[in-house]
Amino acid sequence: MTTIIDGKSLAASIRAEIKAETANILAERNQKPGLAVVLAGDDPASAVYVRLKEKACAEVGMASFQHNLPSTVTQKELLALIDKLNGDNAVSGILIQLPLYPHLDSNAALDRVDPGKDVDGFHPINVGLLSQNLATLMPCTPAGCMEMLDRYNIPIEGAHAVVVGRSNIVGKPLAAMLLHRNATVTICHSRTRDLKAITSQADILVAAIGRPRMVTADMVKPGATVLDVGISKVENKLYGDVDFEQVKEVAGFITPVPFGVGPMTIAMLLSNTILAYKMQRGLIVSMQDDKGRKVTG
Ligand code: NDP
Repeated sequence: MTTIIDGKSLAASIRAEIKAETANILAERNQKPGLAVVLAGDDPASAVYVRLKEKACAEVGMASFQHNLPSTVTQKELLALIDKLNGDNAVSGILIQLPLYPHLDSNAALDRVDPGKDVDGFHPINVGLLSQNLATLMPCTPAGCMEMLDRYNIPIEGAHAVVVGRSNIVGKPLAAMLLHRNATVTICHSRTRDLKAITSQADILVAAIGRPRMVTADMVKPGATVLDVGISKVENKLYGDVDFEQVKEVAGFITPVPFGVGPMTIAMLLSNTILAYKMQRGLIVSMQDDKGRKVTG
């Protein structure tokens, strides 16, 4: 019997927990955690994501500060804005929506964000801390995947986890998180030989590839947990990297697309914003519980 992991309702319950937390902070400290989003690019999908993030903040009672910069913005002006947000007490978290306009240097922009406000977990300091298992703010999509595994009580320790994809925003950080939770981790990529031979050994299989329906039923071990991070639009329809209809007949747990991993990403962004707020005020001592799981508030 396959369980479909319901990312939409999981994310809704996390948002409800965050809403209760922001209400507490408001009542006790008369403050609101706040997220600043910098949009300095003209990708239509970015505009949609930024609106979703703004809406999510409003829904949980957080402040949001949106900065839409024109295509004439210079690198110097962008960095000056980031400096201003770094110094602003009302801003707990800063998110630089990628991709930036082509004339801007995104690495320099990401590096300029105060690591303590880096709610995307992309700053080199946060990347380094994650690799040492000392992470505070972790990248949202992989953190959302881990949260899904935990909230569905899927055992991680000792499991063979296969992550297909090695990007800095999904594959690599997720592999690190799984490793820190004592999974045996294999990372696959476009040069991997005989992908199927590896994926079919996975107890936990994560597809973060960006190729619609590439993972087919014969690549999946019966009873495995399959997390599908991929999102591709084909003729106006969204597809994941996994052939959901086929694979759901084999897997033990599987995420759909849409309404699987996607909604968890924004929930984790809100969770990181609360964490950042608390860290900035010394309200959090440890970022992980005694089982090594991320503290969510
Ligand atoms: P990238 O393009 O940065 O990385 C894709 C990875 O897949 C690369 O490591 C690449 O290998 C690997 N790959 C490509 N083709 C193959 C293949 N044939 N066999 C094995 N591996 C392959 O993508 P992202 O990590 O940024 O995103 C992956 C997907 O997840 C995309 O669809 C994206 O839209 C989606 N996404 C969804 C999010 C959400 O919130 N749900 C958030 C972020 C991303 P190599 O390194 O060798 O090139």
